[in-house]
Amino acid sequence: MIPYGRQDITQRDIDSVVDVLKSDFLTQGPTVPKFEQAIANQVGSRHALAVNSATSALHIACLALGLGPGDRFWTTPITFVASANCGLYCGADIDFVDIDPKTYNLCPTQLERKLEQAEREGRLPKILIAVHMCGQSCDMEAINVLSKRYGFRVIEDASHAIGGKFKGESIGNCRFSDITVFSFHPVKIVTTAEGGIATTNEPHLAARMSLLRSHGVTRDPSLMTRSPDGPWYYQQIELGFNYRMTELQAALGISQLKRLDEFVCKRHELAKGYDTKLSKLPLVCPWQHPDSYSGFHLYVIRLKTSESKVSHGEVFKRLRNDGIGVQLHYIPVHTQPYYQELGFSAGQFPEAERYYQEAISLPLFPTMDEAQQEHVVTSLQRIYGK
Ligand SMILES: *Cc1c(COP(=O)(O)O)cnc(C)c1O
Repeated sequence: MIPYGRQDITQRDIDSVVDVLKSDFLTQGPTVPKFEQAIANQVGSRHALAVNSATSALHIACLALGLGPGDRFWTTPITFVASANCGLYCGADIDFVDIDPKTYNLCPTQLERKLEQAEREGRLPKILIAVHMCGQSCDMEAINVLSKRYGFRVIEDASHAIGGKFKGESIGNCRFSDITVFSFHPVKIVTTAEGGIATTNEPHLAARMSLLRSHGVTRDPSLMTRSPDGPWYYQQIELGFNYRMTELQAALGISQLKRLDEFVCKRHELAKGYDTKLSKLPLVCPWQHPDSYSGFHLYVIRLKTSESKVSHGEVFKRLRNDGIGVQLHYIPVHTQPYYQELGFSAGQFPEAERYYQEAISLPLFPTMDEAQQEHVVTSLQRIYGK
């Protein structure tokens, strides 16, 4: 089966992890700060806080921005559930903003309309979580303008988007947001096995997230309620978690990051190949906004179901039968049973639901070769009788 995504691990990656295994520190050593510095340099942020997953990063990002019971946060229905769950962990109330049918990102026009109404009703959100679907940035400039007008904070869920750019600048530099989060799960663009990171330019947010990822415990006397009892002394000043990244993960991350540009270039090449080879079939290839340079985590096609007798489910099944590990990113979050229990219902976000009826993620990963891509293309052509 050709997977939809797969990590690319070299001997150099392996050696760097083995070096850490033989060193003094498996956790809480010098490698995590090195990885954080490498990420900050790569994306152009002042701070980077590495944690054990993007989900953890999203959680402490929400907490650092003060999200709590009685607050509201908004995100897109077309995302992995973690982008929505993170605010529920804080006890806040969720709502969604429907997607733009071209980019599959949260639609800034719908956002504006929803904000106008929320202002009238006194129900404005405290935080917006903007997800860069497939690696293509949301319209962060428009979101930034709205965040100032309506007074909400912005987290970019850039789990798909490391190595991508918006208006020529690296995603993660937080020019238009408070915090950006990346994921290093093996299907993503670079991997640390499990792992994630939060970038920010605000020192107090970095300090807050640093506390929250490690039990809310500090050894910094300036943060303590009284002077230390002795050199052993620490204080717990918040309720934090153990969300730390290990030294092994950080070493793998540093090694992987060296090939980031190569990975993203290869993804673009493959995407261009699909664009050309699929252009005559009744489907829509990923539309790219001129302001965007995508990380291309995913290559999602949308079937023009009105132009063909073959159903979405049938295309999906036949691709799988041909040994092609297609996927569907994502089931609209508000249609999940857990979210239906919270009061959401099908029909509330029609663009997201239409997308779900038509979308298929094709295999895309840096070690994918021409023969594998040809197999995907031929299979689709055969399905459509071409
Ligand atoms: C993968 C993913 C996450 C979660 O990342 P983990 O590192 O697995 O916790 C969150 N949001 C989006 C959009 C993702 O794709």
